[in-house]
Amino acid sequence: METNFWLKRKALKVLTKLGLTNYLFFRKHNKIYSKDRINNILKTGFVSNPIRVKWELTMLCNLNCIMCHQKERRKNIFKELKTDQIKKIVDNLYAAGIKKILLKGGEIFVRKDIFRILDYIQYKGFKINIITNGTFINKDFAAKLNNYKNIEVITFSLDGLRVHHDKIRNVGGVFDKTIEAIKLTKEKNFFVNIACVLQKDNLKDIRGLVDLSISLGVDLVTFTMEMFYTNDEIEKSKSIMGNDIYTYVSKNREYPFSYDELTNLIKYFKDKSKKSGVYIHLWPPILRKYPESFYYNKLRDKKINLICDTFFEVNLNEKGEIFICPFIKKSFGNLLNQELRNIWNSGEIRKSRKKIFENNLIPTCERCCKLDFY
Ligand code: SF4
Ligand code: SF4
Repeated sequence: METNFWLKRKALKVLTKLGLTNYLFFRKHNKIYSKDRINNILKTGFVSNPIRVKWELTMLCNLNCIMCHQKERRKNIFKELKTDQIKKIVDNLYAAGIKKILLKGGEIFVRKDIFRILDYIQYKGFKINIITNGTFINKDFAAKLNNYKNIEVITFSLDGLRVHHDKIRNVGGVFDKTIEAIKLTKEKNFFVNIACVLQKDNLKDIRGLVDLSISLGVDLVTFTMEMFYTNDEIEKSKSIMGNDIYTYVSKNREYPFSYDELTNLIKYFKDKSKKSGVYIHLWPPILRKYPESFYYNKLRDKKINLICDTFFEVNLNEKGEIFICPFIKKSFGNLLNQELRNIWNSGEIRKSRKKIFENNLIPTCERCCKLDFY
């Protein structure tokens, strides 16, 4: 692990103990959303070059979770990119000045060529973030991963304690495998994040999961509000964006907890973080500023100035296609045959960004983990 990164890890712990970490996640305060940037998007849809890519490297997965929003897409996968095609895209990202690649799936370790891919990404000098369900990581696998010094963070998705996690994952025994993987990567001193989506089935486990995470010595625990869209929201969003907006999550559901329970949970995360030095946070960060408006879906009504965090990063799918949003599946080009530099601020993509922004985002954005304010 680089000294720089070691220092960041220490700094995170100290700030967490002092109760100051939340500040880091408010991009507004950190001036990520500068006036110029905001004005540019409003006027022209232009966003200066991104430095990070989120890449759904594969749609394939060895599990079958009940809330997986990729199930439908998985049914339509006939073939995925070959190693050489992936390398070509990595070159394309490099040429566009991208510095960091976050790899997610599906489950990226399903790919048999994953180490050849990681070799190439590391050779090109990118920082690497990984999201995994952890079920492939045994002792030998962790030793191999340890060769990649550019890996900044490994995020394990863990959606509850043993019974609920395995139930949500639809496969028995995976909780134990993931815990073992977390231990093995911690032994190798990786920066480890545990990520959990708050949902009906795991609500009773949250406090136990926090205690378990702390005892495992992880660096970060990330809870995310479940995203769900009603048909009404989808229709209203279509009326703004046109019919080519469609989404893979569309269930009529409600949050499985009351507003009071949510505020208790936020307070619990805050107190526990300070006590343990492990930062436990809840996405999206806008929740800490406007919990009530978020919970009751009133952010847009209240005319809070909303922005989407994902406007500033590239979303890339398993075919090499570019999106401005992982939930609005409109492709703006393919990196196999087009340069990212030419797509990023193309007329079409700018028009879509501008439209979303002018409308203070769209109804399907209101429960999104990428939601932010300026
Ligand atoms: S591990 Fe992730 S990609 Fe795989 S089925 Fe579960 S939610 Fe979907
Ligand atoms: S906030 Fe809206 S535009 Fe941004 S990622 Fe979420 S759904 Fe997409």
